[in-house]
Amino acid sequence: MNASTGALAAGALVSLSHVPSELLDSIEVGIAVIDRNFKVQVWNKFLENHSAKKAHAIIGTSLFSHFPEIEEKWLRTKIDPVFNLKSPVFIIWEQRPYLFKFDCNRPVTCAAESMYQNVTVFPIVEKSGHVERFCMLVYDVTEQALGKLGMEHLNEELKTASRVDGLTGLFNRRYWQERFDEMHKLCVRREKPSTALMLDIDHFKRINDTYGHQAGDKVIKMLAALIKRCVRETDLAGRYGGEEFAIILNDSTVDDAKAVAERIRQFAQRLVVEHDDESINFTVSLGLAQFSPDFKGAMTWLECADQALYEAKEKGRNQYRVYG
Ligand code: GH3
Ligand code: MG
Ligand code: MG
Repeated sequence: MNASTGALAAGALVSLSHVPSELLDSIEVGIAVIDRNFKVQVWNKFLENHSAKKAHAIIGTSLFSHFPEIEEKWLRTKIDPVFNLKSPVFIIWEQRPYLFKFDCNRPVTCAAESMYQNVTVFPIVEKSGHVERFCMLVYDVTEQALGKLGMEHLNEELKTASRVDGLTGLFNRRYWQERFDEMHKLCVRREKPSTALMLDIDHFKRINDTYGHQAGDKVIKMLAALIKRCVRETDLAGRYGGEEFAIILNDSTVDDAKAVAERIRQFAQRLVVEHDDESINFTVSLGLAQFSPDFKGAMTWLECADQALYEAKEKGRNQYRVYG
């Protein structure tokens, strides 16, 4: 809560009746005094302007009859401590973006649909010591909220960017490896095994040499899209190197994985990449290794898949081989 909220909250434990109306009306904060039955007693200019409800129209009537966006039951419960404990209550935008659905102050420049609000509610203690009314301060914190949300969004984008390979949108090697290590640990405890798949484009150097590096990039990109279509959300697919991909097929035996590998192989063979009026064809080789508790660690598992890939290359490429 900001300093002004605290100062007003502490000072206003007595009635607001001695506060000059000019002050109430010139301040850029919403001020309302509301009684136990939620009938409005004070409604300042800020609230008039933003709610488009004049004080004379709202004073003496129930707050809830004017603002259907306020859940009556929720607000009554929330405000309970104001009456029972004589303690202030805070409603912050992070919990609830707004109490009153007011339009954003600057409709053209503002990215928010509604005004973000921090609301402070504090008791007005009568001379008798009882609390029959409360004062509500409504702060426009739209700029602050958008700043924070923008920052969070930016952080989220940065986080994604640090995990994802720029060319293909698949996980980059570093992040893939992290996730792979976690998956490997889970495999040790799982009943159904997972299978590692390593994939490498055949004679990729020739593609680069014949059609140029950009064409090569396009092939990598198209193949990555194809891989994404062939695996499930729960599988872990990453770009492991230049034209190498690594995939963990989650909860898949090597027999399940063979079907996936064969599908990728066939789709890749059929894929035609168009670049500068050239039609580029290519093939891929794949190696599979099912998880085994005998593997010393995650890297051993991957090396086995790599060994199978090497065998696929040796045996003539454009095929998958299984480790062991
Ligand atoms: P093999 O069938 O044995 O895999 O032959 P290959 O030519 O594909 O194998 P090699 O590993 O010798 O060549 C891979 C080439 O991939 C070498 C490198 O210049 C190229 N390369 C690596 N990263 C990229 C990239 O991001 N874009 C492009 N266009 N080429 C890349
Ligand atoms: Mg390679
Ligand atoms: Mg290659």
